[in-house]
Amino acid sequence: MRIVVCVKQTAAGALNPFDACAYEAALRIPEAEVILLSMGPQKVQEMLYALTRLGARQAYLLCDKAFAGADTLATAYTLMLAIRKLKPDLVICGRQTIDGDTAQTGPCLAGMLGFSLITNVMEIVDVGENICCRTRELQEQTVSCPALIAVERICHLRLPGIRSKAGEVICWDAKDLEADLSRCGQAGSPTKVLASFQNEEGKRRCRFVRMSELETLIAEGVQRECARVPGPGAFREKKLEDVWIIGEAPRQMAETISDTIRRIEPETVGNSYASALQFARMVKAAKPEVILWGSDAWSKRMAPQVAALLQTGLCADCTALETDGKALFLYRPAFSGNVIAKIACTTSPQMATVRTLNADAADVILSLGKGAKDAVREAQEYLEKQRERDFCRWELAASRGAVDAEMLPYEKQVGITGKSVNPAVYLAVGISGAVHHIAGMKQAGTVIAVNPDKKAPIFEYADYGIVGTAEELFACLGQSSDPLQSVRCRPQKSETERKE
Ligand SMILES: Cc1cc2nc3c(=O)[nH]c(=O)nc-3n(C[C@H](O)[C@H](O)[C@H](O)COP(=O)(O)OP(=O)(O)OC[C@H]3O[C@@H](n4cnc5c(N)ncnc54)[C@H](O)[C@@H]3O)c2cc1C
Repeated sequence: MRIVVCVKQTAAGALNPFDACAYEAALRIPEAEVILLSMGPQKVQEMLYALTRLGARQAYLLCDKAFAGADTLATAYTLMLAIRKLKPDLVICGRQTIDGDTAQTGPCLAGMLGFSLITNVMEIVDVGENICCRTRELQEQTVSCPALIAVERICHLRLPGIRSKAGEVICWDAKDLEADLSRCGQAGSPTKVLASFQNEEGKRRCRFVRMSELETLIAEGVQRECARVPGPGAFREKKLEDVWIIGEAPRQMAETISDTIRRIEPETVGNSYASALQFARMVKAAKPEVILWGSDAWSKRMAPQVAALLQTGLCADCTALETDGKALFLYRPAFSGNVIAKIACTTSPQMATVRTLNADAADVILSLGKGAKDAVREAQEYLEKQRERDFCRWELAASRGAVDAEMLPYEKQVGITGKSVNPAVYLAVGISGAVHHIAGMKQAGTVIAVNPDKKAPIFEYADYGIVGTAEELFACLGQSSDPLQSVRCRPQKSETERKE
């Protein structure tokens, strides 16, 4: 079996950790011929050369000035040309890069190649004429080869043996790929960053309190009930005429830019390359201005495939939308998250995946960050106790720091690449307050943060702050009486009430 593994060097100069897993997963497949493929500047050659010592006989670097500044569509186009030349049975990608984080390139590439696709792969169960994988949703999926799979962080990349030999690194430029330059790099990228500005969203005035006051504050927060920060984006006077939403999830965001929204059932888009192709034909015929998708795993799998088939830009994880009546402007946190980028899409239809609120509404979310790593068990025990009391609904959540440290599973991640939540109370313990995280919880009613570092940015986004450690917090909570007993469960809000 011939396997191409797509790898990227991150902005910090290291191998993207998800791609390290993709490489290891390929090396573990018996009798596989593994080839590495990367797009980037000359200096990536060095990294590829070192990686060949682990087992790949060849590595290809796609290197040309014309490839620079590519968004996911232009990147997928360039990789697609190389993959067509290499003719693999299987392509393995990491789920996403840690600097771009869109998780679009793999599905977009599969859409361009016309390969079968499995995303969120946790385990490769069987490889032959077909490939069978266990995915994050714990289902086994089997597809025919040639296929592309995108893996989660499922294994650790091996180290080279002392006597291991390096393979060869071959550079291909635009000429070697016979690339259409209008589809490469910046020229071929329909998503353009128009402006970026300091991100002040979600900031609150923090009052520092003692640990012993915490449960009373939670009780008051639950009683105060509804989230006080309005939904995504402000309503604009000028609207777009023809906006499609896939499923119900993007409606709230869509209503900020259009009064004429058409809902497309996810079944119409389907779950395969063939159904995506059919949907793309329907889009070409109907010519909607905008198509908005949710941020669930299915949307993130299908939207990039449809974007590839329509050759249109897809902006990932938008937190707000705006229009002047003609163009759509999309906002998403960028770089370190301290800036918000204003993005436009120059092709039609303009497409985006948008942040949507998580359906399972909790009254109180106890969210753990990396700083709470020594108190996970205590936090879970505390949560169970609260649930047994059954006075209000408690949920556990996590920052990406906690997920990366394997404290909690990805499903619990709140933030721009996780879920968005709006509980009555958000209790953030051991979370530093990166804007990527804030994007997912800024709509909470009351935010209470616990962190030993009084200068931690999370306090800028909190109503109440407690300077202390997670260990101290759960020891204190274990001793206290229960003010939550006086609190009734808040009634479940209807969709319309939520919008208001
Ligand atoms: C494109 C992109 C997308 C991203 N998407 C997300 C996302 O969706 N969600 C997300 O959360 N992040 C996301 N991130 C990562 C984000 O930028 C941060 O790196 C991450 O949120 C940090 O997690 P953390 O706060 O748990 O860990 P850290 O930043 O390591 O902070 C740990 C905190 O714990 C405190 N601490 C230390 N000891 C203790 C103790 N004993 N008790 C209590 N506290 C203690 C420290 O003072 C510190 O403030 C994304 C990053 C990028 C680049």
